[in-house]
Amino acid sequence: MAETGAAQANIGVVGLAVMGSNLARNLASRAGNTVAVFNRSPERTRLLTTEHPEAGFVASETIEEFVASLQKPRTAIIMVQAGAGTDAVISRLTTLFEPGDIIVDGGNADFQDTIRREKEVRATGVNFVGAGISGGEEGALKGPSIMPGGSVEAYKTLGPILESIAAVVDGVPCVTHIGTDGAGHFVKMIHNGIEYADMQLIAEAYDLLRKVTGHSPAAIADVFTEWNEGDLESYLIEITAEVLRQVDAKTGLPFIDVVLDEAGSKGTGVWTVQNALDLGVPVGGIAEAVFARAVSSHPEQRVPVRAAITARPEIAVVGHTFQDDVRQALYASKVVAYAQGFDAIIAGAKKYGWTVDKGAIATIWRGGCIIRAQFLNRIVDAYANDPSIASLLADPYFAQAVADGESAWRRVVSTAALSGIPVPGFASALSYFDSLASERLPAALVQGQRDFFGAHTYKRVDMPGTFHTLWSGDRSEIETEGSSL
Ligand code: NAP
Repeated sequence: MAETGAAQANIGVVGLAVMGSNLARNLASRAGNTVAVFNRSPERTRLLTTEHPEAGFVASETIEEFVASLQKPRTAIIMVQAGAGTDAVISRLTTLFEPGDIIVDGGNADFQDTIRREKEVRATGVNFVGAGISGGEEGALKGPSIMPGGSVEAYKTLGPILESIAAVVDGVPCVTHIGTDGAGHFVKMIHNGIEYADMQLIAEAYDLLRKVTGHSPAAIADVFTEWNEGDLESYLIEITAEVLRQVDAKTGLPFIDVVLDEAGSKGTGVWTVQNALDLGVPVGGIAEAVFARAVSSHPEQRVPVRAAITARPEIAVVGHTFQDDVRQALYASKVVAYAQGFDAIIAGAKKYGWTVDKGAIATIWRGGCIIRAQFLNRIVDAYANDPSIASLLADPYFAQAVADGESAWRRVVSTAALSGIPVPGFASALSYFDSLASERLPAALVQGQRDFFGAHTYKRVDMPGTFHTLWSGDRSEIETEGSSL
């Protein structure tokens, strides 16, 4: 163990499992940093310091020693299991830290927990920053995208340290102060929700190409590689090609054909949808992605339903442009998914009182995270042109891009419907677009129904005020006070 006792380290890491140890190594590799490390079980600490003597870690076996090894104001990043583990470490550190010190929770916390913790810790004078850290193990080591919340004051000390370890794209570190208290973890949650949608859309594109064109996974891998040269260029498209090209060593079959088609999830997609429901923001693309994984993981329903069906539709005949149609449908659906994700961020910021810079969020997602993509530059531009734009779909570039792909998008969704190929992501994105684009929606009928059975009232297109029809009386209309719309 390295010497302790003197306050030598400018930053500390608590929790040295996969994420914490990689983040600690990343911090130690940057000039000017001396990193203190501590883990509940000392074996992990010993392993890390033994395997990485080059990092010059200041290691401690008690949390008191760890705290004593930090220069003031002390800054410690917690990378422990989300939930009770995080609360336990925060509680210990809060008793040992002094006003002005900073505790950073870099785990995958629920943003509501972060809001609560920030309030509790702030009451002691210690700063608490909930920071979403994306990019998994590799990101933690080589440069993640970091989404810190907490106070502006704390970010003054913390910002330069986080900037030193974040991914860098076009000379810009992938970190920005997102907003106060839980803003960072909220935006990380939405990032993960968008990731779900993006992955589902890509999976649907693959499925369509496979079933409609009959191409092999390897041939489709080449298609994705080609798409990765254009507007769709992204990490997820790149790895999709890699996965599709993989051959199973045991059977010689395409890897994709030996993997069970039941997708799991760790919960952040579900959190996104739950919060979007509470906020009243339609995030159909993310919800469909979460539900698609849920459907896939119920073989006890899939098998009997399949057995009860006697015939499936023939695959529809398509023109030679089908492959490119799928590319365009994928792009248009992706625009919708991101537009919905940013709508959720805007609504969350409004509800929780955060001032968020949407362009800055798109900027820090360009590297060090799973949804990193060229495409995000277009979102940066859209918010630079009009920071209060009502929807990304109203941005001239995206409106044109969707218009250019619209016919292809419709051909793809109708081909899927005719052929019996599930495309919940593509279809829901198209319906969402059509909902926004329609002059009139059947919501007028829903309001009529609601007024009929529950006197919920309605507004008229031709005059101000709130009205109710006396449905069980003479069906005349009365103007009402205090709308329950
Ligand atoms: P993890 O498996 O989530 O957690 C293990 C770590 O938590 C160990 O250091 C463990 O200490 C510590 N711990 C658990 N309960 C504790 C308690 N009551 N008191 C003190 N320490 C406790 O580790 P991980 O995968 O490295 O993830 C760390 C955090 O980063 C999590 O919040 C995770 O959600 C988040 N995250 C993970 C990834 C990823 O790709 N893995 C990506 C982004 C974010 P012991 O060694 O003593 O058991």
